[in-house]
Amino acid sequence: MDNFHRLIEINSHKEQQYKYQLFNWRSELYDANDNTYFLLAKFALLNKLKIEQVNEFFNQYFSIDIFNLNLSEHRSLKYLFSIFSNQAYIQNNLITKSSGDLNILGIPLIQDYYVNTRHQEKIIRYCPECIKSYKLPEHASLKYLDRCLFHNVKFEIFSCNHRVIRLKERSVKCNINFIRIFCPDFPTPQTKKHNVPSQFSTVLNDLDKWNFSLKEICDKKLGKHLHTFKNMDCAIPEQCAHFVLVKELSLPESLREFTIPTNAIRKINSLSISNNSGFSFFENFTYFQFVALPVVYSSFCYLHRKKEASFIQSLLSFFDELKLALINKTEKFWYLHENDGIWTSSDSKGLYCGVLIHDLLIDWLTELWLPPLYTSIRSRRLQYFNNFHLMNEDLVKSASFIPVKSNISENKIDTLFSFNRVKFQEFAIPNFSSEQMLALDSMCDELVKSYIHDARVWLNRIECGEKPDHFPPRSRALLSLQKVQNQYRLFNIQID
Ligand SMILES: [Zn+2]
Ligand SMILES: [Zn+2]
Repeated sequence: MDNFHRLIEINSHKEQQYKYQLFNWRSELYDANDNTYFLLAKFALLNKLKIEQVNEFFNQYFSIDIFNLNLSEHRSLKYLFSIFSNQAYIQNNLITKSSGDLNILGIPLIQDYYVNTRHQEKIIRYCPECIKSYKLPEHASLKYLDRCLFHNVKFEIFSCNHRVIRLKERSVKCNINFIRIFCPDFPTPQTKKHNVPSQFSTVLNDLDKWNFSLKEICDKKLGKHLHTFKNMDCAIPEQCAHFVLVKELSLPESLREFTIPTNAIRKINSLSISNNSGFSFFENFTYFQFVALPVVYSSFCYLHRKKEASFIQSLLSFFDELKLALINKTEKFWYLHENDGIWTSSDSKGLYCGVLIHDLLIDWLTELWLPPLYTSIRSRRLQYFNNFHLMNEDLVKSASFIPVKSNISENKIDTLFSFNRVKFQEFAIPNFSSEQMLALDSMCDELVKSYIHDARVWLNRIECGEKPDHFPPRSRALLSLQKVQNQYRLFNIQID
């Protein structure tokens, strides 16, 4: 036990306890499922050691940096604690394998054990039952779980104060503070036996298995992320990814009751946008080309296929609906003064010098989808046409569009646009088959419907008496284009 002499030495300078055994540990403090940083915190408190001393000890003799444990260090530490506890080492699958990083519909999600178990935010999630036995299960750090697998009790949150704790020391130090507050009697041995059910190994097993096949399941079900057409404004991306994880990625039945509730999600559907129509250009599209595609394509559809393209029809009938609602309106309505973002209502005494709320919606959707209708004289107009031209150029580069007037030079466009009488003109037309157009139509349908839904939700709330405080309406859906096996799919996740 040479290594431990060093610890005795470290401690003896401080405490003058040279003759006594200084290395304390009790077997009931060890649990194979404990968060490793929590084990270290218990070790430090039990031995009245500063974390620098704990680190010095583990670092010098076991080459373990306790502040930032990698996978093998997690394993080694748990192994050491099992020896200290005179217990068999239970190989924990959660730390022996790693599922790698996931990309859930464009949202990166780190699933590595050593990253997840590290204390990264200002909170520690814990089980109110486990903590009574001085335990912090490592699965409490998996945020798609809502409750403790051992007690079926909802995890609670400890918020810590980081003002005086250095970043790298937080994982251990915050756990020390957490124990001090929640277990004021620690390390007094517990007289009362707490409820420690043991029949949950199957659930843990299922969690291990699922957790580590996640990457594979994710690749199979969600495929490769190509582009996010619409992002959700009302939910934290990470939380959104957890919803998808639980709902879409083959969660074992046994785990279902322990995961976060996903009823906030109204729907998850995926639209197959090409069966054999071969959008090979999608593969090489840049971010900007994806951004340009709906804008340029929809302007073409407005001019040439208004009748066939149902998304154009949806937009136009929504505009009619808005105009009609306005005509029939008797109660107050709102105006936005766009320069200073002030909202005034029709029943206020002042002049309404802003843009009417219904017109705002029409202009907003027009700008996104129907460039030819964009006729109001605003400073954005020139900028819009310039952008539109650049978008066309981008798509021409991808060969998915063919230029209409290839001889227009940059200079000519500038002079053309500097006169306000400019009429919308096409720069490029699609280089697709009619089958591909139909596929793109269905994609645009999904997108347009989502924008209209956002607009309706926003407008409804205002009509119910809420004062508007933002514009445009917040996005309530995530729409992501994925390549799943050999198919392109548009995933649509909508929250209420
Ligand atoms: Zn518990
Ligand atoms: Zn903290």
